[in-house]
Amino acid sequence: MPDIESEMKYQKLVELYETMDSTTKRLEKTAILADFLNMVGDQDPKNLAVITLLSLGRIFPTWSEEELGIGSKLLMKAISLVVGVTIEEVEDQIRDSGDIGSASQELFQRKVQSTLFTRALTINKVHENLVKIADISGGRSQNKKLEILRELLSSASPHEAKYITRTVLEQLRVGVGEGTLKDAISQAFDIPKEVVERAHMLTNDLGLVAEVAREQGIVGLKKLTLKPGKPVKPMLAQLSPGYKDSIREMGYALCETKYDGIRVQIHCKDDEINIFTRRLENISPAVPEIADYIKKAIKPFDFIVEGEIIVTKEGKPISFQYILQRVRRKYDIERLRKEIPLTLYLFDVLYYKKPTLDEPLKDRRNLLEQIVQILPGKLELSKQVKVTPETSQKALDLFNQSIEEGHEGLMIKDPNAPYTPGLRGKKMLKWKATPETLDLVVVGGTYGIGKRAHLIGSFLLALRDENNGLKTLAHVATGLDDKTLLELGEISESLITRKVGRKVDMIPSIIMEVAFSEIVKSPEYESGYSLRFPVVKRIRKDISIDDIDTMDRVASIYQNMKII
Ligand code: AMP
Repeated sequence: MPDIESEMKYQKLVELYETMDSTTKRLEKTAILADFLNMVGDQDPKNLAVITLLSLGRIFPTWSEEELGIGSKLLMKAISLVVGVTIEEVEDQIRDSGDIGSASQELFQRKVQSTLFTRALTINKVHENLVKIADISGGRSQNKKLEILRELLSSASPHEAKYITRTVLEQLRVGVGEGTLKDAISQAFDIPKEVVERAHMLTNDLGLVAEVAREQGIVGLKKLTLKPGKPVKPMLAQLSPGYKDSIREMGYALCETKYDGIRVQIHCKDDEINIFTRRLENISPAVPEIADYIKKAIKPFDFIVEGEIIVTKEGKPISFQYILQRVRRKYDIERLRKEIPLTLYLFDVLYYKKPTLDEPLKDRRNLLEQIVQILPGKLELSKQVKVTPETSQKALDLFNQSIEEGHEGLMIKDPNAPYTPGLRGKKMLKWKATPETLDLVVVGGTYGIGKRAHLIGSFLLALRDENNGLKTLAHVATGLDDKTLLELGEISESLITRKVGRKVDMIPSIIMEVAFSEIVKSPEYESGYSLRFPVVKRIRKDISIDDIDTMDRVASIYQNMKII
């Protein structure tokens, strides 16, 4: 039996959350978190990894596919059972308090104190129960989850309930993101920031990074590397200011067709193939032919390759929207496989028997060409040309050819660059034919009038600021067809946290790609900018809130637009 009395109490974590929430200053948050990690390292080292993740409100590392699978409805039911009120009363309280955590705290405070005889919750107990919830699947799983949640919450104090409920919904809201946590690990264990950064990039597991930092220091962290089976965040592209300048800056460049589909990272480990999206979601069951192609095209050593999946009809790419029908699909996969055929264009290799990501792109491409057997129309390599400043016409030719064939534009890549997971740098650039768009998250909206009074017709959009907070930028009301509006209406209802008149606040979740004619300065929105003539191009289910556009990007487009 573990010695429960000596295990760290969940109350300690609650105190951490509250102190972090009490300041808006990032440096202070970092120092508080660093002290806390140090304290955990001394008092409860074997749980350092778990507690580190919990400090961000996470149960599982980013690479993991496990999830709790608890929606706000189920959570509200659990709260209502524990505090003995109706679900409607819970809903009302959420509307009044602004979020489910504060609402729980309020409701728990009001309940008759029945917790006097229960033992204080330990961090382990909370963690174990949440892991148990994630493990439940199959028949009656919602009931079983509810039961565990109810048991857990019934031993919680009002403050504990506030954070357990927020953790369950993955909305901790104490203003701490991965960036602050990385700084805190580096401060706590005296490790240079770049070393922590790199270890994180390669493992996607800040719990592990904290543990290794404490136990083995720099040497241990430097040994961490990527592993087939555990997806890493993809290397991202910046906008090219113009192909000629970009090629000149690189000396020479590898230019490729930019395909408009979804980015996939394909892992082969012990003959098993898994296909991950850029949000690290495993979509293997939805796209079985991709695994079939990969098995035919590459010998089954352990490897990680990357590429873009697009939908083609008679050799031509067709609208991006079709691909979403494929990757989100749970049923009827064989029929859809025939109706919506996929083509995979591979463009990188991160691991082949050993990590290759530190090798220059030109060598990785050579390796890719050696290990891949092309399957025409099914699995191909991205079309590529090698271009010097003198032969930059070749880049323009490929760009024009790509557009003519229905693709999106051109990628311009530095042949000497290593693969840097999760980073958007100058080593990989994109040059598109269509005007720029922004990926923004919906944080609120306004109901329509007349016949449309039941539907949100205008959405309030936000971008990400330097501190990983959200700042509003614009309202958008055009570009959505009736079917999508209806679908969004349903999803929105479950995300609403507050209603005032026709206006609502919403949990940030829906991401929209928005085109616009111009960025202008505006005091009306928190970002200080606004969009002229915004139009929704599509709903982006393939990216997460971490991937939305930033203040920096908007400021830079604003600057560039002024120059033109
Ligand atoms: P964007 O999504 O606009 O940031 O553009 C970068 C994306 O282009 C990558 O994340 C890939 O999904 C996609 N892409 C299409 N073709 C290529 C290619 N040949 N090389 C790299 N990325 C590509």
